[in-house]
Amino acid sequence: MTNRLILLNPGPVTLSERVRKALLRPDLCHREAEFAELQARIRAKLLEVYGLDPGPWAAVLLTGSGTAALEAMLSSLVPEGGKLLVLENGVYGERLSRIAAIHGIPRVAHHHEWGEGLDLAGLERLLEEHRDITHLAVVQHETTTGRLNDLAALAARCRPYGVQLLVDAVSSFGGEALDFEGWGLGACAATANKCLHGVPGASFVIVRRQLLDVGCPRTLYLDLAAYCKEQDRGGTPFTQAVPAFYALEEALREFQDEGGWMARHRCYAALASLVRRGLIGLGIRPLLPEGASSVVLNAYHLPDGMEYETLHDRLKERGFVIYAGQGGLARRVFRVSTMGAIAREDMERFLDAVKGIVSGA
Ligand SMILES: *Cc1c(COP(=O)(O)O)cnc(C)c1O
Repeated sequence: MTNRLILLNPGPVTLSERVRKALLRPDLCHREAEFAELQARIRAKLLEVYGLDPGPWAAVLLTGSGTAALEAMLSSLVPEGGKLLVLENGVYGERLSRIAAIHGIPRVAHHHEWGEGLDLAGLERLLEEHRDITHLAVVQHETTTGRLNDLAALAARCRPYGVQLLVDAVSSFGGEALDFEGWGLGACAATANKCLHGVPGASFVIVRRQLLDVGCPRTLYLDLAAYCKEQDRGGTPFTQAVPAFYALEEALREFQDEGGWMARHRCYAALASLVRRGLIGLGIRPLLPEGASSVVLNAYHLPDGMEYETLHDRLKERGFVIYAGQGGLARRVFRVSTMGAIAREDMERFLDAVKGIVSGA
C-alpha cells in the first residue's frame, strides 16, 4: 500500500494486511458456538505468550481499551478490607491511583517525578510502615516517558511482605519480558492493540485464578470473576467486540509465526536503536539515559526552536504520525513507538524525513 500512514504513536498500531483482513470474517452472534470457540482459542493463546499453565492462570477477555482492563483488575482483585500501594512515575501510574480512588479502595501512593526510576528503598520503608498493604499496583512500561520499570528488582523487594503484584502491562505485554512465576505476579492487564498488533476494542487481564475469589464486586460491567466464570463455560456476560476478537486471534497467530515475544522484543530493539542513533545524529536528544527506556517507545526532546505541532504536521505530510508528550512534557518532548507492522525501511524513511525537516529542506 502506498498511501498508508505509519503510526508511531503507542497504539493503536499500524496493522498488517493479515490482521486487517481478519476484521472481515463472518457476522457472528456472541451466544453461538463459533464465538465460544474463538474466545477459547484466544484465551489459550494469550496464556501461551509467556508460557503460563492454564491450571492456575486464566486469561479474561474484555471489550474496551487498556484502561477497562486496568479498572477491572484493580476493582475486582483488591478485596474489601484490602489496601493498595500504587507506584507512580508517570501518567499511567497516576491513573492507577485515580482508579483506586474512584472505587474507594484504601491506598497509599509512592510518588516519583515523571521519568524517574523506582525508589525501591522508599518502597520497602512504605511496606514496613503500612503492614496492612495487601496489593501493589505498578506500570511495567511507563509510556509517558518510555521508562521501563524493573519488575524483577521490585518483585524481589516485595516478596518478604507477601503483597500481590498487579501490573499495568498495557504497553509491554508481548514486547518485554514478563516472568509471571519467577516474579510472583498476581495479575497483569493489557490490550490487543499495542505490542500484540491487534485492533482497539479488546483487552484482557491475565490473573492467578485464586485471586478472583474476593466476594462482593465493586462493579457490574468490569467484574473479572463474573467474566472468568462465564468464559470458562464458553459464554460471556455481555456482548463482546467480535471483529476485534477476530483480529486479536489473527494477531496472536502472526505473533507465534514470527517467533513469540522474544523475537518481537529483538525486532523492536533493533528499530528503537536505529531511530535513537539516527535522531542523536541529527542533534535530537533522548529524554532518558541509554538503557532506561523500553524497546517499545522512546521519548525525545523537540529539536531546538521547533514546536511539537510543526514537527508533527510536517512528518504527517510525509506519512508518519508521531506522538506528543503529556502534561508538563507536552511542550518539550515527542515520542516514537515502533510497535505494529513496521519495517526497518519505514524507519529509515522516517529518519530521512526528520532530517529534511530539521535542516529546513
Ligand atoms: C496505552 C496505555 C494504557 C491504556 O490506554 P487506553 O487508551 O485505555 O488504551 C494504560 N497504560 C499504559 C502504560 C499504556 O501505555
